[in-house]
Amino acid sequence: MKVLLIGSGGREHALAWKLAQSPRLTTLYAAPGNPGIAQHAEIVDLDPAHIEAIVAFARDENVGLVVVGPEQPLVAGLADRLRADGVLVFGPDKAAAQLEGSKGFTKDLCARAGIPTAAYARYIDLAEAQAGLARFGLPVVIKADGLAAGKGVVIAETDAEAQATLGDMFDGAFGGAGAEVVIEEFLSGEEASFFALTDGTTAVPFGSAQDHKRVGDGDTGPNTGGMGAYSPAPVLTPELQAQAMREIILPTVRAMAEAGTPYSGVLYAGLMLTADGPKLIEYNARFGDPETQVLMPRFEGDLIDLMLAVAEGRLQEIPVPELSPRVALTVVMAARGYPGTPEAGGSIAGIEAAEAAGAIVFQAGTKRMNDGLVASGGRVLAVTGTGESVAEAQAAAYAAIEHIAFPSGFCRSDIGWREVAREAA
Ligand code: ATP
Repeated sequence: MKVLLIGSGGREHALAWKLAQSPRLTTLYAAPGNPGIAQHAEIVDLDPAHIEAIVAFARDENVGLVVVGPEQPLVAGLADRLRADGVLVFGPDKAAAQLEGSKGFTKDLCARAGIPTAAYARYIDLAEAQAGLARFGLPVVIKADGLAAGKGVVIAETDAEAQATLGDMFDGAFGGAGAEVVIEEFLSGEEASFFALTDGTTAVPFGSAQDHKRVGDGDTGPNTGGMGAYSPAPVLTPELQAQAMREIILPTVRAMAEAGTPYSGVLYAGLMLTADGPKLIEYNARFGDPETQVLMPRFEGDLIDLMLAVAEGRLQEIPVPELSPRVALTVVMAARGYPGTPEAGGSIAGIEAAEAAGAIVFQAGTKRMNDGLVASGGRVLAVTGTGESVAEAQAAAYAAIEHIAFPSGFCRSDIGWREVAREAA
């Protein structure tokens, strides 16, 4: 079967790496891909934003399955257009992708379906939002409704900060994403990511992870797309996972179907593990980056079989997918300057040696130049190690990084620290 993978990041390299292991694969295409993905796929020079061009390619090449990595093409309706032309696709329609694309939509769905989440209110008017703040204590969480690449959330510690944030958001600080604002109760607890696959009717768990969003050691400094992650997340015990399936995932799948917008693909739930049990912080309509770089190495089955079962609505007919109990931990190597303006063009060497040391090196912001590999983005590599414990996986990842020469890059030195400390206790 021919498969077309949409995207160009480390997440898509991890998906390509796994898809390429399937005996069912004849050709893997990737649009637009990257040099790491090119080890497994034929690169197609198409922009994922050009929906008609992608649909035409899939049709002309008789592609049997399209796998959409990032959220923007889903929110823009790529999956709808492919399905309308009879092409199987892993990823939700535009209406279902609102679970990620609109925070207000998701909060209303939670309220309707009784899904545990923070108390909230939606506003389209500054004065009403400012008056509405009185309903919440401090700190208070203020979110731009639409997609803002992880930057549209402010946790305000004081009333003055909250008022100013609302002013900025309605003033267009996040463009169209801030035309509507959601104010939320602040939840305390530990965060964990939980993944489930659903075909619109049936849902199955697909692993857990925890990531490190801050750029600096000890979880300090500005937020990033993610500097590292590990899977599984031991804090999300089997009991808590069962509770999250029962109270969050399954009611979501049912509510989406009842609304006439069944959700097909991966539901990536950001959970807060509160004293009252897991509560939903947010949904993403696609796999996480860098969480995919730790989930895929733990999945021992055939990813094409699994994604086809999701795309064809046959999830109930196949065995529940299993992930290896081995721990995977990934460390992101970023270009100096990230998450501000990253330095472009820095040379990268030693990937083969790192892989010979037992790690998997996934590429994100890289490009080929004069036969060498150079940095071309913020997050550049994700180096994944595995082991019997988080400490072992962490040691494997950092030992492999020793082999990588990326003088203008940096990485955190403590990915997994909280769990490593718990293991040692
Ligand atoms: P990202 O793309 O980075 O995941 P996002 O813009 O989709 O972010 P959220 O995930 O909703 O936004 O929020 C980002 C972060 O803000 C969360 O990971 C969490 O740390 C914090 N946060 C969000 N909502 C709450 C809440 N109600 N209580 C406490 N913290 C919260």
